[in-house]
Amino acid sequence: MDAYFFENRDFFANRIQELEVLSKSSRTVDSSATSAEVPDTAVCVRIRPLTEEEIGWDHIQGVLRDVHGAANIYEPRRMINGKPDLNRTSFTLDHVYGPSKNTKDIYDDRVQELVKWVGGGGMSMLLAYGQTGSGKTFTVSGMEKLVVEKLMEGKLFGKWDVHMCIFEVAGSNLFDLLNERNAISILEDPFGAMQLVGVLEKNPATSEEFLSIIDTAKELRSTESTTKNDRSSRSHAICRIRVINKESPNTPEGCFLLVDLAGSEASADTQHHSRERMAETREINKSLTTLKDCIRARALWSIGRGDANQKHVHIPFRTSKLTQVLKSAFDVNNVQTCKTLVIACINPSILDVAHSKNTLRYAEMLKVPVPKVKPRP
Ligand code: ADP
Ligand code: MG
Repeated sequence: MDAYFFENRDFFANRIQELEVLSKSSRTVDSSATSAEVPDTAVCVRIRPLTEEEIGWDHIQGVLRDVHGAANIYEPRRMINGKPDLNRTSFTLDHVYGPSKNTKDIYDDRVQELVKWVGGGGMSMLLAYGQTGSGKTFTVSGMEKLVVEKLMEGKLFGKWDVHMCIFEVAGSNLFDLLNERNAISILEDPFGAMQLVGVLEKNPATSEEFLSIIDTAKELRSTESTTKNDRSSRSHAICRIRVINKESPNTPEGCFLLVDLAGSEASADTQHHSRERMAETREINKSLTTLKDCIRARALWSIGRGDANQKHVHIPFRTSKLTQVLKSAFDVNNVQTCKTLVIACINPSILDVAHSKNTLRYAEMLKVPVPKVKPRP
């Protein structure tokens, strides 16, 4: 496939341009149609720019955001007569951020309001999904910086207190990234909440201190090589920030979860046959599938809220360790609903379109159909 692409590189580059120009006039897609109606769960796409290295290797962009706000994927193929051709598939999510958008743009659009929600005693969760190299860590790190700066402002003014912890979900084990990778366990308390047992929580005084703690944790995470099989590709990293209001003690505790998910390709890993590795692969697979099921079940419940039949919605969080840890985000008994933002990260290279298509399919499945009639109050 790679060789075939390079043999016909100029054809593909020109043809994509032609098709993008054609698509400008041919279709109208309103990509924001559903986002306003499902405020609690939004699913966005971020297409990163090609790296200097990829440009040097003559890669071209095979995933583009078109003028109507859809993500178009171009897959090289060969016609029966042997001539090269392209398949185009379009995906419409709540929003598609093209390569020219930076993290601050996404923050201003989508994350700012999640921070405000947490400040008011709510819960927010940001998840980055995608294959290794698609920009998950870049996005989560950049977002953490902006979220922390905002939340620490409130702390500075004595409004609230901020506690944070960072840990990793690897297979079905939890490791503390603030405490030399000590093992952590989770226990369900009598109120049905999942408690992390043995986790080290820190209480940074300034945003500089907070960010340097995050950096140290990140170093611990990426001690192995940076190939597709390194630890950071095969584990989920979670940063949990708790915000305790000091001015009004009756305000519930706010919580922000920032989740850098395992590389989505890891769940399809069949090259490593050691028993331990296969168990880990199964757990990654299960966790990403269950995550999707939980987000969907939660979003469906929120649309049908007030409907007697929906009261006992089944949210299958017990199926994987990751979703057990994130249980409170799906819990329909929570006082305040969790606002969830999923950012599906895309490596734009035409040589990675198969993975990108899987990522967009996953993202699409997170979206639930919105009923035409308004739900009963
Ligand atoms: P992942 O965590 O999904 O494996 P990374 O966040 O490590 O991917 O990103 C892979 C590479 O692409 C890194 O070199 C990173 O700096 C770069 N990168 C990712 N997203 C962007 C972006 N939006 N703009 C510029 N460079 C990016
Ligand atoms: Mg990463």
